Amino acid sequence: MKDYGFNGQIIDHEYIKKLFTKAADTKKEEIESILDKAERYEGLTHEEVAALLLSDGSKVTERIFSVAKKIKQNIYGDRIVMFAPLYISDYCVNKCLYCGFRCDHKFERKKLSLDEIRKEVAVLESMGHKRLALEAGEDPQNCPIEYIEDALKTIYDMKFKQGDIRRANVNIAATTTENYKRLHNAGIGTYILFQETYHRPTYERVHVGGPKSDYNYHLTAFDRAMQGGIDDVGAGVLFGLYDYRFEVIALMLHSEHLEREYGVGFHTVSVPRIQKADGADINVAQHIPTDEEFLKLVAIIRLAVPYTGMIISTRESAEMRKKLISIGISQISGGSTVEVGGYQNREKKANQFEVADNRSMSEIVDWLMEEEVIPSFCTACYRSGRTGDRFMQLAKSGNIKNVCLPNALMTLAEYAQDYADDAFRAKVDKLIKIHLPNIKSDAMRKKTAENIEKIKSGKRDLYV
Ligand code: SF4
Ligand code: SF4
Repeated sequence: MKDYGFNGQIIDHEYIKKLFTKAADTKKEEIESILDKAERYEGLTHEEVAALLLSDGSKVTERIFSVAKKIKQNIYGDRIVMFAPLYISDYCVNKCLYCGFRCDHKFERKKLSLDEIRKEVAVLESMGHKRLALEAGEDPQNCPIEYIEDALKTIYDMKFKQGDIRRANVNIAATTTENYKRLHNAGIGTYILFQETYHRPTYERVHVGGPKSDYNYHLTAFDRAMQGGIDDVGAGVLFGLYDYRFEVIALMLHSEHLEREYGVGFHTVSVPRIQKADGADINVAQHIPTDEEFLKLVAIIRLAVPYTGMIISTRESAEMRKKLISIGISQISGGSTVEVGGYQNREKKANQFEVADNRSMSEIVDWLMEEEVIPSFCTACYRSGRTGDRFMQLAKSGNIKNVCLPNALMTLAEYAQDYADDAFRAKVDKLIKIHLPNIKSDAMRKKTAENIEKIKSGKRDLYV
């Protein structure tokens, strides 16, 4: 494997510095033409992103938000995909100063048995979830790759009356190509790994022990994942550790690197903003973006990579989540707990970070519906083999929305039948009536309407 990472072959710090010096001279007309380009859904180069990150003035910022809203609306429509994290082990050998699971934080650690995983999954399924993100700390003794494989098999083997967990994404520590092959063979959805911060000196300051303290090994994890056959990877930055402008550019460079080397960039980008946690040192976060900065950076990412899914967790408040959804977020978690075994036992013990949106899954689904947003439980692409470059081709041609909306409506109809009461079902019928005409193709609209009727009479797991 190439020796990426040294002297910034992927993330060249000096290059980023020069980029910002140059971007500071961007003229107003150039900013306008960058925004015109974004408005044509063409995405942006990292040079153009740098110019927008340094832009100021309320008029430009307003236009950034209005273009982000337009892209969100036209590419993703009124749907939002739902998922839930499932924490299976909080054993960890790393010392990441910002995290409640760091190895020097003393608390009673827990790893779920396969039976306990079944119980957690049963609770998640009873909430209506079909898409999970499996989360575990790094500990080769207590949480080896075999345990993750067993956990995945356990989840996929579970069968429920209303349907199964249909997609399990995995968020585990950077590992070897061999282990990525094993994860791929175990049928994972997206492999998720946050770089936390791309700024090497900051990375080294906040990761003070354990294998994760190796910046290069962490940064090249997606290269090994792709070489191991995983073609959907989800990146993220923990905003707050270093200057968000640097982090956004580094995210772009990382994605461009993967696209160049393997033909496919990030499938998703997560944008967690640092939160306090028991046992964590929030003082390491000297660069927490304000709400205004955070909204602007999310909008700029939306402009830059219009076809990449964007995810927020329950770290953000309900009010912020509402604003973030309107300018670009396409996936949110709901009714989440960030504790091992937390779905069966909601009593708070040790968590990775504090949750700001504590609403239940049904409250979140209700809230989205009130906002006329369609909560979607779709997992169709992964199950139809639309992953990696196949997915990207469909996304970049703009044709993905022709399947997202029908799938959103069908999965919502299924949710209404299986997890809700008559009053909710009436609301869903109303929402379906509003959105069905938005399906452009006559044939697809007809098929969706027919499938919804089939779902009402007992059919399940219909998708296109
Ligand atoms: Fe362990 Fe991950 Fe927390 Fe670091 S961030 S201490 S690797 S669980
Ligand atoms: Fe996601 Fe594909 Fe479903 Fe659209 S159709 S919501 S891209 S899984």
